[in-house]
Amino acid sequence: MSGAAAWAAVLDRLDDAAKLTGVDPDIHRMLRSPRRVLEVSVPVRMDDGRVEVFTGWRVHHDTTRGPAKGGIRFHPDVDALETTALAAGMTFKTAVANLPFGGAKGGVRCDPTVMSLGELERLTRRYTWEISPLLGPDKDVPAPDVNTDGRVMAWLMDTLSMVMGEDLPGSVTGKPLAIGGTLGHSGATSTGVLVTARAAFNALDLPFAGGRAIIQGFGKVGGPLAFLLSSAGMRVIAVSDVHGAIHNPGGLDAGELSEHASRTGSVVGFEPADPIAEHDMWALECELAVPAALAGAIDEDVARRLGAKVVVEAANGPTTLEADPVLDQRGIICVPDILANAGGVTASYFEWAQSRQGYAWDEETVAVRLRQRMDEAFTAVWSKAESLNVSLRRAAFGLAVERVADAIAARGLFP
Ligand code: NAD
Repeated sequence: MSGAAAWAAVLDRLDDAAKLTGVDPDIHRMLRSPRRVLEVSVPVRMDDGRVEVFTGWRVHHDTTRGPAKGGIRFHPDVDALETTALAAGMTFKTAVANLPFGGAKGGVRCDPTVMSLGELERLTRRYTWEISPLLGPDKDVPAPDVNTDGRVMAWLMDTLSMVMGEDLPGSVTGKPLAIGGTLGHSGATSTGVLVTARAAFNALDLPFAGGRAIIQGFGKVGGPLAFLLSSAGMRVIAVSDVHGAIHNPGGLDAGELSEHASRTGSVVGFEPADPIAEHDMWALECELAVPAALAGAIDEDVARRLGAKVVVEAANGPTTLEADPVLDQRGIICVPDILANAGGVTASYFEWAQSRQGYAWDEETVAVRLRQRMDEAFTAVWSKAESLNVSLRRAAFGLAVERVADAIAARGLFP
């Protein structure tokens, strides 16, 4: 999906939510424009001695509910509109999760797969310096996203701390434990997906234990999720990754599958299981389908053939605008991304709070609070859907827009 299409899709959802909830038209208009878009050029000395100039962005969509929050990605497709669309998505996600944050996103257009570690570090540090006027624990708190990780966050935090002349652990989340990261951050998104999936099954009166699940994607989210679903008594009957899909109607052993995937680099070839085309995997009769890989994975065609009763969106934007009504018509319940995958940003909130307190929580505290917040978010969206008689997606966007609008109305318009 192009950046322009991604932004158009966000505006579409925002307009629908504003209409649905009767939000003040002035506030609706304010939310249709990002608060600020900073474009920077990032000159980097490459290993061969020449200077390459990259382009980067940091976008704040809205900061009324708190400091801007959102990841930083390094990818050849990054552009201003895609970054803006993702920033708006963060405004709505943090509002659904009821976190005291606004929405941001950043990125540099580059191909990190062909860059050395030294080049990546110089790129990160120069980009951080270029966007540093926007950053800080009370202003804008980045996190990892596509092709960035704890190491990149550590460079970012170190650069900002050097520039500002003070230690700023609260300026970034997803950082290593050694510099103030939180316990429980790495599995938080998968845990949030599990909590919302279980809550949806409860609300629908469907038994969770004994149910069958399929998962697209076996990475940082899909991998741990297969294990969590199996531990909760579900049978994970099919899993796919970029190399292919595998199927075992009796259920895949998540522990052994994970070991196989780390050894071979893919789920393909795992035994006991049969290869299956991903196209056919979607059609398998099951109770739960979790897209945990790509945007746009469930298009109209997949939605028509989908064999699941419930979809829980671990990935960002896995269901296309055209597929949504097909799922609705077929009575398939879809827990939307801004709710289902909010476990990651919720753990980021916990990390930010700990960094600011200078007091680390134990793992149990993080786990209990995460489950509690995800349950509360699900209940709020479910009630909204019932009271408005709409899908969970429209309800989640409605709830988010209402919460942001309430904050804008309470603060009033400056000057
Ligand atoms: P990842 O890169 O660790 O894993 C992605 C997985 O998807 C890999 O197994 C890859 O092989 C697979 N994949 C890629 N293309 C595929 C294809 N065409 N068909 C099938 N599988 C394919 O990424 P991740 O961190 O697990 O993120 C997955 C999704 O969840 C993304 O949409 C991401 O934006 C979203 N998400 C992640 C987090 C997080 O905490 N990591 C938080 C919120 C949302």
